[in-house]
Amino acid sequence: MYLSAANHRIPLSDGNSIPIIGLGTFSEPALTKKGDCAASVKIAIDIGYRHFDGAHLYQNENEVGDAISEKIAEGKVKREDIFYCGKLWATNHVPEMVRPALERTLKSLKLDYVDLYIIEVPMAFKPGNEVYPRDENGKWLYHKSDLCATWEVECHPYFTQPKLLKFCRQHDIVVVAYSPLGTSRNPLWVNVSSPPLLNDVLLNSLGKKYRKTAAQVALRFNIQRGVVVIPKSFKPERIKENFQIFDFSLTEEEMKSIEALNTNIRFVELLMWCDHPEYPFHDEY
Ligand code: NDP
Repeated sequence: MYLSAANHRIPLSDGNSIPIIGLGTFSEPALTKKGDCAASVKIAIDIGYRHFDGAHLYQNENEVGDAISEKIAEGKVKREDIFYCGKLWATNHVPEMVRPALERTLKSLKLDYVDLYIIEVPMAFKPGNEVYPRDENGKWLYHKSDLCATWEVECHPYFTQPKLLKFCRQHDIVVVAYSPLGTSRNPLWVNVSSPPLLNDVLLNSLGKKYRKTAAQVALRFNIQRGVVVIPKSFKPERIKENFQIFDFSLTEEEMKSIEALNTNIRFVELLMWCDHPEYPFHDEY
């Protein structure tokens, strides 16, 4: 499939389509200046991004929505040009809570629909206002839910997901790769024992060959095999850099050698919840 900066939507089996690159918008709230998210979304729209990955949990959905509304008002884009993915957090898995949670997201965004609404993690936590509920001894408070879950998939050159991708291709399912650059390496939730992806020798040497960065090679690798990427950056030059992946292509051999970097180790392991009965990463997929 020919992908370009102006035309990079890929079809979904329900007749809709999804832009193959989106801007990730998670940024540790305590370390992020108010307004940085909105500014980044606006810059991204100007650069050509049309897909935004957000969540109520990220505490900045209002900024994403304000930026989109501003660009619509400016006439730069129409609502239907934008693909927004929102997420249901773990304390809202009880069926009656899903609709109010989605309505809160729509209210923050000031939009009347989202394009995709996914279950953020397939493990339910005790319902209520506490986002990360624990008891008085600090023990996580889980909740039993009858969940036929679907969730996003970490995917990058160190975690290439060959088996999952094969399954999804056979069933016409498009995979969205979160943490496609190997995360922000926040030790609070990232497994930092795995080396930084962007320091990889092969990715850097291919970057040199194509006059691209390791980040661009890592993103190109995924989009070239039909995987949607949602790299996060709130730095204008990186938002731009991450979008400049439509003007080069990797050879088949290079694709194979990147595939061979796979270590089968996740950066996002969420080991603090590994005793949850629905912890997803005990399964092979
Ligand atoms: P990424 O792999 O996108 O990496 C983000 C980090 O890389 C940031 O520290 C960013 O810093 C830096 N960065 C961005 N571009 C470049 C570049 N060109 N060169 C060097 N460094 C760069 O990690 P995330 O974990 O944030 O994943 C992306 C998005 O996926 C999230 O923001 C979120 O929307 C989604 N996500 C969803 C999850 C879920 O629901 N289960 C789990 C994890 C992520 P800076 O901003 O300073 O540029």
